[in-house]
Amino acid sequence: MSAPAARGKGPENLVRDDVRALTAYHVAPAEGLVKLDAMENPYGLPPELREAMAKRLAQVDVNRYPDPTGARVKASLREAMAIPDSLEILLGNGSDEVLQIVTLALAKPGAAVLSLEPSFVMYRLAALWAGMRYVGVPLRGDFTLDEDAVMKAIAAEAPALTWIAYPNNPTGNLFPREAVLRVVAASPGLVAVDEAYYAFSGGKSLLGEVGRHPNLILVRTVSKLGLAGLRLGLAVGTREWIREFEKLRMPYNVSSLDAAAAELLLGHREAFARQTAAILAERGRLERDLDAIPGVERFASAANFILVRLPDGPGAFEALRQRGILVRTFHGSHPLLANCLRLTVGTPDENTRMLEALAAALG
Ligand SMILES: *Cc1c(COP(=O)(O)O)cnc(C)c1O
Repeated sequence: MSAPAARGKGPENLVRDDVRALTAYHVAPAEGLVKLDAMENPYGLPPELREAMAKRLAQVDVNRYPDPTGARVKASLREAMAIPDSLEILLGNGSDEVLQIVTLALAKPGAAVLSLEPSFVMYRLAALWAGMRYVGVPLRGDFTLDEDAVMKAIAAEAPALTWIAYPNNPTGNLFPREAVLRVVAASPGLVAVDEAYYAFSGGKSLLGEVGRHPNLILVRTVSKLGLAGLRLGLAVGTREWIREFEKLRMPYNVSSLDAAAAELLLGHREAFARQTAAILAERGRLERDLDAIPGVERFASAANFILVRLPDGPGAFEALRQRGILVRTFHGSHPLLANCLRLTVGTPDENTRMLEALAAALG
């Protein structure tokens, strides 16, 4: 019996109205499907690294709490990502947690979060969780940055926090570096540049700008690099910013197993560099082959996925799934993404199967 509800003590009375109105983040079941929906690196660890990791993890004292400072894993990230000593690092349980911490820190009453649309949905969700106003500024129809619209929104809303994904997800494009820096200069609030896809951007990064502007931080992750299961993300910023974020971080947010695995694996950059090179080569091949399929409109990508628009996006999504291929459909999520599918770059064989299924679905 639902006695507590009858007494007005159930979630329908006690949970915040805006939380009750949400639906939990949905991840499509992928069992038995070729998984090209989540920008995962399709290559597992090489056998020798798997073995080295097993040995290393066997040494971890799981009866003890992790090192709360994360000093060793930070040193590994610093080395792997060439983060200068003048900047500090905040660790997160994935960059998802980092963006939640950053948002929470800026959630003064009435404060706004600005994000471009379409972009990563977590920016809006984290703002909502923190009780902040959310301002979405549409990109142009071709997904380029509408700088005038952004500047007007900044002037009108004075956002405490602005998110820019560089490259952007789900569109895949990189906004011009100079335009991003103009947004930083015009913003009264913090601008957080999310470089989840830096490994695929051909070296394009704003890391060198952090510390040169008082209101710029960078967010990165090891997820798209090939370590999505570890749940390790980071913010990079000046000591002054990171010190404040640290106060909102759960002391043991990165597990000792994740930290130990990352310390080991980040020392084997050549393995990930090989996989990244293979993914980039396949991205080029996918671009050529997609362009040869009539009915496919392809958008430029600086990431490990490609956004396409089809005559019937939802129909093509279903047809692909019938053929055992899971991609991500964005139809219905934003007007600019009508009939769009996002295709993660897989292995050569997976990509061939996806292309064949797509050609069959459209033919
Ligand atoms: C995938 C993605 C993330 C989330 O990465 P995690 O570190 O796995 O939480 C963050 N930002 C963007 C733009 C992404 O696409």
